[in-house]
Amino acid sequence: MKIALLPGDGIGPEVSAQAVRVLEALDLPGVEMRTADVGGIAFRNHGHPLPKETLDLARASEAILFGAVGDPACDDLKRELRPEQAILGLRAELGLFANLRPAKLFEGLEELSTLRPEVASAIDLLIVRELNGDVYFGAKGIDTLENGEREGWDRMSYRTSEVRRIAELAFRAAQGRRGKVTSVDKANVLETSQVWRDTVIEVAKDFPDVALEHMYVDNAAMQLVRAPGAFDVVLTGNLFGDILSDQASVCVGSIGLLASASLGERRTDHGTFGLYEPIHGSAPDIAGKDIANPMAMILSAAMMLRHSFGCEAEAARIEAAVAKALGNGVRGGDIGGEAGCREVGDAVLARL
Ligand code: NAD
Repeated sequence: MKIALLPGDGIGPEVSAQAVRVLEALDLPGVEMRTADVGGIAFRNHGHPLPKETLDLARASEAILFGAVGDPACDDLKRELRPEQAILGLRAELGLFANLRPAKLFEGLEELSTLRPEVASAIDLLIVRELNGDVYFGAKGIDTLENGEREGWDRMSYRTSEVRRIAELAFRAAQGRRGKVTSVDKANVLETSQVWRDTVIEVAKDFPDVALEHMYVDNAAMQLVRAPGAFDVVLTGNLFGDILSDQASVCVGSIGLLASASLGERRTDHGTFGLYEPIHGSAPDIAGKDIANPMAMILSAAMMLRHSFGCEAEAARIEAAVAKALGNGVRGGDIGGEAGCREVGDAVLARL
């Protein structure tokens, strides 16, 4: 198991350290973990937020465990040297095309949700968002028209091959869950979505054990707050996924509890090459104070074991330990508690 550990900036190193303790406690055979700089610290030590050494290590690994990047001291640097460029660079260089964000409400945290408890408690879904295509990556421009008005435009497109690979990944994920995929598009008005929908229907034929439904994105946004428990895997493009995944996050509570995976095409011996990170940033306001909640980072490590190394049982063990700690009242500062970063790590380890 070749793991590149990239703790990064701010609270990244603190929360990463707790995830490493949890991984070490599992005592899995054959783990090779190597650490490298990324983000602001990499700029200071090597002159670039994503130095060649770091990229080489990432390429030679089967999975990347990523803390967070972002440092206010770097705000005046040229855009290409800012810490945040490291994550964009890694996605592009490593062909990470699929973003997976699970959203599940932990028992006892119903009051954190913006939804009514009986609605929120049913949430257990996975958003699978395409990451490399769509309107974000098409040609774009701002023209000045003859009458002097400005016109902005962005080309939206998806090829069948791009839709096919993300759809296959979503169907495989559904096989390991409750066996349902909801494909979200806007096929009533967008040709891009028509290609998306036709392709998803084709892919579904290879997965007869998974139920497929289609939903327009406007309806999906409504259903996500009306009856979120009805979703299992939500498959969608880059733009719609960007919006829906943030919407799903606030439905389950704090930023300190949410993990994510970005997967590539390369297969490992028992899974898929991927980068795993909490959805929060480097939180410079609380860095170095031992008050960051490491649970999102620990849950990212669990996702890594599941998706890159096929260690489902160990991933489930970590998730159960986090759930139990929360159920027993262990609360980081982000969810109104007083437990410090290391203390939360201790609590998860004790329940592992
Ligand atoms: P942020 O997620 O870092 O912080 C938002 C708020 O949530 C802050 O008040 C912070 O203290 C709190 N918070 C975040 N994680 C927490 C945790 N684990 N426990 C307790 N509280 C937590 O977002 P921001 O403030 O908008 O950005 C800070 C920096 O992080 C910026 O430089 C930004 O560009 C960067 N960023 C990086 C990533 C990434 O590395 N993938 C993602 C988002 C933001």
